[in-house]
Amino acid sequence: VSLAIHRGETVGLVGESGCGKTTLGKCIVQLIRPTSGEVMFEGQDLTRLSDKELQTIRQKFQIIFQDPYDSLNPRFTAMDIIGEPLRIHNAVQGKAYRDSVAELLDLVGLSPYMAERYPHEFSGGQRQRLGIARALALQPEFIMCDEPLSALDVSIQAQIINLLGDLQTKFGVAYLFISHDLSVVRHISDRVAVMYLGRIMENSGRDELYKTPLHPYTQALLSAVPIPDPEVEAHRSVIVLSGEVPSPLNPPSGCVFHPRCFRAFQDCPRIIPALADAGGGHEVACLLYKTSYP
Ligand code: SF4
Repeated sequence: VSLAIHRGETVGLVGESGCGKTTLGKCIVQLIRPTSGEVMFEGQDLTRLSDKELQTIRQKFQIIFQDPYDSLNPRFTAMDIIGEPLRIHNAVQGKAYRDSVAELLDLVGLSPYMAERYPHEFSGGQRQRLGIARALALQPEFIMCDEPLSALDVSIQAQIINLLGDLQTKFGVAYLFISHDLSVVRHISDRVAVMYLGRIMENSGRDELYKTPLHPYTQALLSAVPIPDPEVEAHRSVIVLSGEVPSPLNPPSGCVFHPRCFRAFQDCPRIIPALADAGGGHEVACLLYKTSYP
């Protein structure tokens, strides 16, 4: 996997369940230490840092987890939860600590008087706001958002999307937004990377990717997105992929997508297509595009 995330931008990472999106996200923020490769952050390879060095630099990159309930300690109050990064990094003390937590609560649309409540006293959307406030506490430059909306109702999802957008405008924070929901990713991302079985299949600017998807897998994913117009929805054609996602422990030879690809040809089981520029920064890993031959 090779992926660049620039300052202040949102990169959407999409793909079916089990394709490795969360593993990639965890490798980037070093919740999983990768066994090979590099994770460069502001010129430093995170994989080579000691635990102590990593703890220091971790102030600059944070995480919003998928399940807002599971990711909050039920014995902690909102004050303890949001203030934990401030305590660990000795960022503020005394009254400044309480003021910082109150400010963070306010920033994510919660009232400072809620600081003494426990997670079970908040709704699902409010809990995710707590998770976002905790991620923002140390003013990070990058946040890995691991399916932050999937446990929320649609109306609450919209509020959280808007909140993330507002916070990015205000603080210039970059997001890796992991999701299997292509409509949400289209709304929130500047660029989109499509993953399949542990590999990036396509990577492009958001508008380009949704207008002209090149990879057959992306074409199939996009064809399955519902269109909110009953006339168009009734007549659109959906590309149905046959078979199951193969095991990543025993991936198919050549292009890993070939057993399910509706455009596969004789070279596909033999040659691994490299992710290559197909023009204008649009990258694709498919042998149909001449640039991808090794
Ligand atoms: Fe399909 Fe072959 Fe392209 Fe893989 S390389 S996506 S199997 S056409």
